[in-house]
Amino acid sequence: AKAEERNSYRFFMPTTRASVIDRLSLEGDLRHAIAHDELVVHYQPLVELSGGTIIGAEALVRWQHPQRGLIPPDEFIPLAEESGLIIDIGEQVLRQVCRDLGRWRDSGLQAGRISINLSARQFRRDGLAASIHRSLTESGIGGRQLAFEVTESVVMHDLEHTAQVLTEIRELGASISLDDFGTGYSSLAYLRRLPIDILKIDRSFVRDLHLEPDAAAIAHAVIAMAHKLGLGVVAEGVECAAQLALLREFDCEEGQGFLFSRPLPPEQYAIILKQGR
Ligand code: C2E
Ligand code: CA
Ligand code: CA
Ligand code: CA
Repeated sequence: AKAEERNSYRFFMPTTRASVIDRLSLEGDLRHAIAHDELVVHYQPLVELSGGTIIGAEALVRWQHPQRGLIPPDEFIPLAEESGLIIDIGEQVLRQVCRDLGRWRDSGLQAGRISINLSARQFRRDGLAASIHRSLTESGIGGRQLAFEVTESVVMHDLEHTAQVLTEIRELGASISLDDFGTGYSSLAYLRRLPIDILKIDRSFVRDLHLEPDAAAIAHAVIAMAHKLGLGVVAEGVECAAQLALLREFDCEEGQGFLFSRPLPPEQYAIILKQGR
């Protein structure tokens, strides 16, 4: 009974206190994970919608926790962003992608364009383009093989600074995608002021595409607008044939989603690349 009382004590602590402790332990674990290579990159194939060919992939980080298994990014990216650990994570992801691209090249595989997510913190710090340049040089990978994804919330902090950094990244040969398009604020202003190559239509529009005329109208209009602006379009979260049929009808050229493939470990992505040719 004594032990029970002692154990139950913590439940009476203010919840904020408990969450501070949780946070600190997660942050410590995450530091350890970064130092011990527990972060892995999976690749979700990017598909050409007309023919079904794989033309690249999106790199998505996961935490291979020794006890808790594979932890999805939503559970640690926000904390990594707050604590600044995202800087190290971002560099590890970039280096991992360049290493994988080098391996695929050496085994004669055409891996296509690999896109990497960038967070707000990475932009606020100087030297992002320089660090990308370093990773490319170290691995002998051409900038053309990479695309970088930014969300509206990332770019809206400091439009001028962002435009400058995106331009530097583009000068390395990489392309720029605006991620989760349609979910942020004043999206259209960014399109005019930022050097962007590709729009990624957010999953929420694709999800309701075949169910709600409004979602279909928005998706259709976004695709047409992107084309008029000379931008490419990627639909994310394509899960069923009905969505695919509509996207094709609207002339959307590229897509990703569970209909084609879930994100895969690098070895498995290599296998489907081989099969696809
Ligand atoms: P995101 O950039 O929007 O990535 C797409 C997310 O949608 C991925 O979740 C992917 O697994 C999921 N997804 C893809 N197709 C489908 C589908 O057909 N249906 C459904 N329901 N989901 C689909 P994931 O891998 O859990 O990543 C979540 C978010 O974490 C990403 O959203 C991105 O914002 C962030 N993230 C992932 N990797 C990195 C990274 O290396 N750096 C940074 N800064 N953020 C990352
Ligand atoms: Ca993304
Ligand atoms: Ca997205
Ligand atoms: Ca998202």
